[in-house]
Amino acid sequence: MLITDDLLLYYKRCRRRAFLDVYGDRIQQDPEQDFLLKLRQDSLAYRQAILDVAPHQSPNYPRRDWAAGAKATLELMQQGVDQISQGILLMQTAPGVTLLSRPDLLVKQPGLSNFGDWIYVPTLIKLGKRSKPEYQIVAAFAAHLLAAVQGVLPSSAQLILRRQDAYSVSLARWEPLMQEVLSECIDTLLQRQEPDIFISRQKCSLCHWYSTCHAIAKAKQHISLLPGVTPSRYRDLQALGLTTVESLAQSPINLLEPAVGSEVAVDLVQQAQSIVQNRAILRQRSGAETQTLELFTHPDVLTTASVELYFDIEAEPELKLDYLLGVLVIDHRTHTETFHPLIAEHPKDEALIWQQFLDLVLFYPEAPIFHFSEYEVETVKRLAKLYQTPQPLVKHILSRLVDIHWEVMNTATLPVESYSLKHLARWIGFEWRDSGVTGSQCVCLYNHWLETGDRTPLDAIVRYNEDDCRATYYLKNWLKNFMQESVQNSTKSYAKISE
Ligand code: SF4
Repeated sequence: MLITDDLLLYYKRCRRRAFLDVYGDRIQQDPEQDFLLKLRQDSLAYRQAILDVAPHQSPNYPRRDWAAGAKATLELMQQGVDQISQGILLMQTAPGVTLLSRPDLLVKQPGLSNFGDWIYVPTLIKLGKRSKPEYQIVAAFAAHLLAAVQGVLPSSAQLILRRQDAYSVSLARWEPLMQEVLSECIDTLLQRQEPDIFISRQKCSLCHWYSTCHAIAKAKQHISLLPGVTPSRYRDLQALGLTTVESLAQSPINLLEPAVGSEVAVDLVQQAQSIVQNRAILRQRSGAETQTLELFTHPDVLTTASVELYFDIEAEPELKLDYLLGVLVIDHRTHTETFHPLIAEHPKDEALIWQQFLDLVLFYPEAPIFHFSEYEVETVKRLAKLYQTPQPLVKHILSRLVDIHWEVMNTATLPVESYSLKHLARWIGFEWRDSGVTGSQCVCLYNHWLETGDRTPLDAIVRYNEDDCRATYYLKNWLKNFMQESVQNSTKSYAKISE
């Protein structure tokens, strides 16, 4: 069995991922998403750009002949080559287990080793911005194998992160941690113990086993599918014997309170009840009288203004560009719905679309501007600062923004796996015209447009953005009706009690 840097990195992220990468049926893997393909290409290009300006030699060996690669790398180290790229470090451990590391660079430094008065230090090049634990584990793994070859463990390994930020990994700290992770990983794989599923939206959405794992989790009604169940809360719930959604839905709040606190306990139980009963439930607040719920909701959500604007943005993070400001104008006076896709066909047009946006929202100076998530607020502030928009005007626009995500989160518990716009709007019956398109895919589509000038991807992005605006409109109307019904019901109950 070959334990590589990548396998260890994935094991650190998710034990099950490493297990399935070794023993899973590859036919069940999801096809690579465009977004991930782009990420992989960007990562390779970044590594190459750094290597291009670092004079180095690479070991020469037949493809995938790791023993020959390790021998060729050793020869370069013995010669005292200053920088060796993609060297092979190999080690046999337990019977049938081989460790293989391929650090991006081995950099010669002063010190004493088997070779003479020099040692090598491993350097990894990563496109990530932060020195994530899994990067440090993999750097320590390279240093561990290197120590067996040169007879000495360097005091640190290096990470070159995005924008060439250098980060030093302390091996006194990370090498022992790496040994623990490595030994667990080898045991899991040798004993063929399939690790349990835990669906974490952030981690799993980037994994090629997502459909397989999600289908199993769904069939088991796995508790990790509940919003709010983090890995540590999952452990707490398991310790209390709450392993199914039903058991959580029936659990008394005070059973959970010592482990997770009263607010989270109420949220988790209510979330489970919403799923078991397949209905939206008014979110409970400790100490709040139900008939004063209007106070917790933005007044613009509970009414219908004569004109309403629905706003959604598409961005290209790598270019630090907000290239589409989409605004749906709902004019209840004229019964018209008009979508304005303010799109920067070239990155330099961002200032132009910002001005068009200002003109449009000022044309309806009283209209509330509904959006979904904090991103729109942050972007208005960013663009205003960048293009020196007068402060009173910025304040006026910010005062009109109403975040429907925040409103839903604070007023209703819905039987969904996530409080994303897609999950919420789909639960209430809204469908996107192009079901396969996602926000991250739009980034790839926009880059395709920039590279080829083919308008087809641009049209797909505009359709997607318009549907996001329409989904927000749909959700706002649903929330308004839900709140009104809830307040009416609670008033009736209050009247009955008072009689
Ligand atoms: S989908 Fe999630 S649980 Fe399944 S292997 Fe991937 S990361 Fe692990």
